[in-house]
Amino acid sequence: MEKKFRRIGVLTSGGDAPGMNAAIKSVTAAALAHGVEVVGIIGGYRGLIDNNVKYLTTADVADIVSRGGTALYSARCTEFMEEAGIMKAVETCKKHEIDGMVVIGGDGTFRGAYDLSAKGIPCIGLPGTIDNDITATDVTIGFDTAMTTGMNLCDKLRDTCESHSRCNVVELMGRNAGYIALNVGAAVNAVAVVTKEIPFDKEACYARMKKLRAAGQQSFIVVVAEGVGADFGEQFVKEIEENTGIEARFCRPAHILRGGVPTLRDRVFAAKVGAYAVEMLLQGKSNIVICERKGDICECDLDVAFTVDRMYKGKMKPEELDKHSPEEIAYMEALCEERRKEFKELYDTVELICC
Ligand code: ATP
Repeated sequence: MEKKFRRIGVLTSGGDAPGMNAAIKSVTAAALAHGVEVVGIIGGYRGLIDNNVKYLTTADVADIVSRGGTALYSARCTEFMEEAGIMKAVETCKKHEIDGMVVIGGDGTFRGAYDLSAKGIPCIGLPGTIDNDITATDVTIGFDTAMTTGMNLCDKLRDTCESHSRCNVVELMGRNAGYIALNVGAAVNAVAVVTKEIPFDKEACYARMKKLRAAGQQSFIVVVAEGVGADFGEQFVKEIEENTGIEARFCRPAHILRGGVPTLRDRVFAAKVGAYAVEMLLQGKSNIVICERKGDICECDLDVAFTVDRMYKGKMKPEELDKHSPEEIAYMEALCEERRKEFKELYDTVELICC
């Protein structure tokens, strides 16, 4: 341990995700095991600005792992995005003698952590978002539960679609990524999956549905990722009816995907990254996000995580690469290629087996 840590902070921020509680528990237990006190920040960066904190004991986190949501609450806080807000947050950290922070959330949360660490508070990020849209990591906390919830919902819709010989178009969360939609589509044997990542051929979809109906198929599920656009799903229902003659309905489970009992996979991942983050913080590390890559828990520099994310989403400006080494650039390009390949392969499988 390079520096004597006496106290660390932990917060959850951005959209909540099932499994965040397992991460809070893991961070708290690991820190306490090292004799380090844990300050739970209530309501994300808002709580840090308002000095809304609770010192956590093992008893506080003993029974939270099986619950969805976040016991530390979450919030979106624009004040933290301004200098004055960050300085108030720094004051709270100083007041409680917080030597480092573990922040659990998505990309926005990590940008906040980056700013906070620039003010002298070491920060480590844990990927907590149902969307799985953090390119640096293979999975995020909450992704597995959200997919399972989406699958169960579609199975229920399938029952009623079958009884009424209908199609149901289901829009699933994922503003910036179609991972939930694609995986659920594969799991429920959707007739089509619509995502931002891959161009969608409506005519081919109608032709497939008509062929399957002629062969006797009664029910159809179409899964649409939220990121495709607010009106796409509802509009597509009308177009399916007009172009195939098959009755169709629309369903938007929205925030239901965020709730519920976290799956084993999410809890175990959260437990691993939570404990790992504490070890890293105590070793003097900062400005990293804890990731899973090919089954291994590892760290990724926040700068690299931000750039690879923008690179993958096509938002990166060429000058953003200036601060990166040739090795980092090669790593990021390879990772983006890998992500695209994985997505396309699963998409092609869904196309092959859809009905
Ligand atoms: P999700 O993927 O669920 O949306 P997120 O962490 O990306 O999670 P955001 O609402 O984007 O969610 O960000 C969470 C919080 O992080 C914001 O409310 C704000 O307090 C802080 N934040 C976001 N972007 C920045 C930024 N560019 N600079 C500083 N702080 C930021």
